[in-house]
Amino acid sequence: MKFGTKAIHGGLKPDPSTGAIMTPIYQTSTYVQDEVGFHKGYQYSRTKNPTRSALEANAATIENGKFGAAFGSGIAAIDCLLKMLQPGDEVIATHDLYGGSYRIFKTIFEKYGIVFHFIDLNQTDLLKKTINEKTKLVWVETPTNPTLQIINIREVASITQVAGILLAVDNTFATPYLQTPLDLGADIVMHSATKYLGGHSDTVLGLLITNDPAIAEEIYRIQNSSGAICGPMDAFLVLRGIKTLHVRMKQHCENAKEIACFLENHPKVDKVYWPGLKHHPNHHIAKDQMLDFGGMISFSLVGDHLGDALKVLKKVSVFSLAESLGGVESLIGHPVSMTHAAIPKQERMKAGIVDSLIRLSIGIEDKDDLIADLKNALD
Ligand SMILES: *Cc1c(COP(=O)(O)O)cnc(C)c1O
Repeated sequence: MKFGTKAIHGGLKPDPSTGAIMTPIYQTSTYVQDEVGFHKGYQYSRTKNPTRSALEANAATIENGKFGAAFGSGIAAIDCLLKMLQPGDEVIATHDLYGGSYRIFKTIFEKYGIVFHFIDLNQTDLLKKTINEKTKLVWVETPTNPTLQIINIREVASITQVAGILLAVDNTFATPYLQTPLDLGADIVMHSATKYLGGHSDTVLGLLITNDPAIAEEIYRIQNSSGAICGPMDAFLVLRGIKTLHVRMKQHCENAKEIACFLENHPKVDKVYWPGLKHHPNHHIAKDQMLDFGGMISFSLVGDHLGDALKVLKKVSVFSLAESLGGVESLIGHPVSMTHAAIPKQERMKAGIVDSLIRLSIGIEDKDDLIADLKNALD
């Protein structure tokens, strides 16, 4: 099956009790058993719920995986994954990581004795040097936030496989429509389905997907034991969102391309970060690894004045000033004062997160209106 068909039908069947074509919201905590030891596969909704099971099966299919697990948020999915580790284990992660991932690594799991290293994972020699006998997991995020660096998943996988280390990829920004990390050698894929998979800015949910039965068993054990599951209503919303993922992603990418070109040619714009631009430092990796270049764009302003950036953020009217991304509506954000406020200025500047940097999540509105909105705000 090809992607669009899998997004709509993958892992799904009409509801067995009624024939309902859309998986119902099974808003129930428990299930009546025929007699002791005889049930229909469901006993208690923390362990398993039919709406959640449908989403888990569907999400696994689109990532070319066999097993999926859904959680109350993307961070709850990461929490589950890290609980597979033991005190003393070491993790190597992308250095310009999503802020919330960095926070759970440093402020929650470090105190349980897990050690984190943050490096540029495209420097393969550095990766090899950082790996030791305690390294258990490499954590890749690509494209990264907000400068949209691309990590070569296949190259990192060639190193983790030789070393016998797990490779997990946060696929939130790309989505399986653009890249399927399991096919490139990753062991686990993680999603904040809050973003593109849900796609309508109406729910918070996380996913883990794998092909390995032993990893899956451990994930389900922790999911049930720690209990950070999503509710059936949220599972339903993401299941519904995934059905149009391919159609939305095409439009996100098409709009982003036009807007990246517009920004590149605007006299007040300094740098434009979008992996589809030929001068993007990782353009060749993106071209090889992804089907298209995604709907996220960042740009900085000539002169790099904070005041100028704040003016643009205030002037836009089709774009909404908000955190998050991946919904049908276009969002605009200011990493320095919003998502990346906690990072020291020197660290920020090194990563290209300058005072005037503006991040766009390009929605699927008419691109002419989006360009007119930006043009008005910049002029
Ligand atoms: C939003 C996000 C997360 C966290 O997911 P939540 O659903 O907000 O818990 C993790 N990684 C990336 C790349 C994200 O954008």
